[in-house]
Parts: sequence; C-alpha cells; structure tokens
Amino acid sequence: MPFIAGVGNTCGSGMHEIKERLMKEYRDLPVIVGISRCLLGEPVRYNGGHKLDRFLLDKTKGLVQWVPVCPEVEFGLCVPREAMHLAGNPESPELVTVNSGKVVTGQMQTWISRRISELEKEDLCGFVFKSGSPSCGMRGIKIHDKNNPEKVRGQGAGLFALAFTRHFSRLPAEEEENLHDADMLEKFIKQILAFAGTYNRPHRHV
Ligand code: SF4
Repeated sequence: MPFIAGVGNTCGSGMHEIKERLMKEYRDLPVIVGISRCLLGEPVRYNGGHKLDRFLLDKTKGLVQWVPVCPEVEFGLCVPREAMHLAGNPESPELVTVNSGKVVTGQMQTWISRRISELEKEDLCGFVFKSGSPSCGMRGIKIHDKNNPEKVRGQGAGLFALAFTRHFSRLPAEEEENLHDADMLEKFIKQILAFAGTYNRPHRHV
C-alpha cells in the first residue's frame, strides 16, 4: 500500500526550487520511490520498533509517493522476531538468526525474486534503504563467521538491497543516513528527477 506524503511548506529554499521544477516538468507528481518500511515509522523491526525518519519525510513532502517494503516481514517473519545477521562466505553470505543460528536465506531469496517482479510494475524512480540492516543495508554490513559469530569475515550489502540494486542498476538508490545532509538529499532528489525525465514513460511528460 503506497504511503503518500502530504504537501507541506517546511522545505528549505533548495528543496523548494526542486519542488517547483518538478511541478513544472511533470503533471503526475508525486514521484514514486521505494523505501524500507521502518523508515516510515511502521513498527516492523525485529524488536517491534521503527526507525521513523522525520527529516526525510518532511523534506520530501509533496514530491514523493512512497512504496514501502519490509523484506523480513514480507517473506514471512513476525514482529517481534529474533535479530539476524549475515554469516558465511563474504562472496555469498547467508541470512542467519543471531541466537538460534537458523538460516533463512532460501526464504529471503524466493521472496526477493517475486517482489522484484512486482516492483518492476511500480514505476519506481528511486529507493531509500535502511542502513545497517542485513536485509536492507546497501553497504558496510558485517559478515560473520558461521561457526564463530564473534569473528567478522568481511563486509557487504543486505540481501534485498544487493539484489535490488543489481536488478535496478540505473535506479537512484541511497541509504537514509546519507540523506540527512541537505546537499546530499538535494542531489538524490535531482537524480530521481533525472531518472523520471529520461525513463521511457512518455505519459509522464507534459
Ligand atoms: S531494515 Fe528492512 S527488513 Fe529491517 S525492519 Fe526495516 S524494512 Fe524491515
């Protein structure tokens, strides 16, 4: 179910300019962007919490229609649930529950194939991923030794983020923590604008 940010007047001048430009160039705003569901404030994290990103939501009001995705809940895990991490071969890590050592990579990969097919139909112009997650993080996620979890064998990307960015390789994608800087956020919005303007969807153009 899409989450549509309402139009507000809290944008800074840079964001306001971008918003004006978008409104001139396109008549079917808001731009559609995927997002890790917990960033919208939905309590889907392993501990029953969320990671509401007020800055991101405030600054993109009126520009973005969010398409929320929570890999761990959507592939069948409940809330709350056992925390997970990446483990095994750094080239092809497994998604493993931290305490009980249950491997759920297969369930995740099956879901990823299906969900990516669905997302192809969403007209996405970008994606904002939750940093630090073994499912959603784009980079720097620790990969533990399977037999000795204390030992870190490398770093990589969360399984969904990796599959998504490989499949939608032209789509602007970033972690939320890199969008808390106004300049970085403006750059990201411009990337989304450029993608929306060059992507082969003639009905979007005025
Ligand atoms: S980081 Fe990803 S998998 Fe974890 S709660 Fe947020 S949306 Fe779900």
